[in-house]
Amino acid sequence: MDCHTPVILQIDIKIPEHVLAIADMLTKSGYEAYVVGGAIRDCLIGKTPTDWDIASSATPEDVKRIFGDRAIPTGERFGTLTVFLGDQGVEVTTFRKEGRYSDGRRPDRVVFSGNLRDDVARRDFTINALAYDIRRKSVTDYFGGIRDLGDGIIRTVGDPEERFSEDSLRMLRAIRFAVELSFEISCETLCGIAKLHCAIRRVSPERIQDELSRMLLSTRPGKALRYTYETHLLDHILPELSDCAGIPAYHESPDTLLEHSIKACESIEPRLELRLAALLHDIGKPLTMAQDDTGRLRFFSHESVGAELAKTALERLKYPGALIHRVTTLIKWHMFTYEPATKDKGIRRLVNSLGLEAIYDLGKVRQADRVALGLDPGPGSNMEAFLRRLEEVLKQGPAFTVNDLTVDGRDVMRVLDIPEGPEVGRVLAKLLDVVLEEPGLNSRERLLDIVRAMADKKIH
Ligand code: ATP
Ligand code: MG
Repeated sequence: MDCHTPVILQIDIKIPEHVLAIADMLTKSGYEAYVVGGAIRDCLIGKTPTDWDIASSATPEDVKRIFGDRAIPTGERFGTLTVFLGDQGVEVTTFRKEGRYSDGRRPDRVVFSGNLRDDVARRDFTINALAYDIRRKSVTDYFGGIRDLGDGIIRTVGDPEERFSEDSLRMLRAIRFAVELSFEISCETLCGIAKLHCAIRRVSPERIQDELSRMLLSTRPGKALRYTYETHLLDHILPELSDCAGIPAYHESPDTLLEHSIKACESIEPRLELRLAALLHDIGKPLTMAQDDTGRLRFFSHESVGAELAKTALERLKYPGALIHRVTTLIKWHMFTYEPATKDKGIRRLVNSLGLEAIYDLGKVRQADRVALGLDPGPGSNMEAFLRRLEEVLKQGPAFTVNDLTVDGRDVMRVLDIPEGPEVGRVLAKLLDVVLEEPGLNSRERLLDIVRAMADKKIH
């Protein structure tokens, strides 16, 4: 629906006090003010909005005049000021229509407009183009957003291809909203994405990362990933994962490796590093796939090749280093098998090199992998046996890091009479090594004796 006579829905939406007060000041000063965008969408479907936006006929100059230093310019070039009443800010944006887009991401110039219709027409999806008039208690809907909200449909305002050519980030937003809201994407909108997928390359990696993370943390990460694969967006975002569509998950598997990876991602709890690790755990397989003498498919060392590929992919998407490290550690170790004959000290060394949290996360990745393979996730699995054994070792209360030692850097400096510096760290690492081997030595006296012996022999 794209007509000049909007649908008006009379409804009493509960608006927070500070938003009411800002809209009230604008209208009392003679300007129009509507609550717009995601907040109205969320209220109409019973979700709690995360942020509140106001669209107004007041220009940035007017807003500054009305609110003084409570109006902070946060995107003035685009007509946006954030107004603070108390400690909560509300974005107040002047009605605008956008000029030409030549970079496929941002309008070349912003043109302010005197009317609401222009403003909602530049918004991405019909469900995001609703405007609420607080005084009249009515929602104005020019583009069928209320109907699409009821039907659970994501549809662009206007022609999808035109709207995606203007700003290609909208293609990812369509998928992200679909999975966050449990909506479907309309056929035309989906076709528009499938046609213009290449344009996603114009979007900054940071914005892609943000949308991808939100998709992965939604309740339907699998649906989002299938949408990105079917529309070819995945070929640009994570080509390493697209490559997994062409091979089986394992010898004679009914699932492609991509489908297996998606199922693993869906089966793990919504923590970003876990979702990423489950999704990418096998991405080393396409590069390592080979047939053995019997014709069986093998994927030797796919875990270390996969960890390297995941590092490159996540760095390209500008994920933080610490997260990349956690994800790649999980991928590298996901084929870990526990040997019951392993000595306690072997287990302690493993905890020392991986960290306890990573070991528990590894258990979760392994479990998700098994669920995705249709295997019994828990009892009887090798990982389960390992975790039981780990509990036994932990009960002995051993030290796994230098912080767990009964001596610290100050003791080392005093006994060896050395200044602060890397040498202190090296001595503590040696002590930890001794204690990992023999936990009984982690008493203050014994460790100080060892440090004194180092001093005598000058071996530190
Ligand atoms: P959420 O905050 O949950 O992501 P939202 O709909 O509030 O959802 P925002 O990114 O906060 O999304 O944007 C606020 C509003 O601005 C949107 O509802 C939409 O009307 C408009 N908007 C945001 N990004 C775009 C875009 N790339 N193209 C067109 N309109 C957009
Ligand atoms: Mg928002």
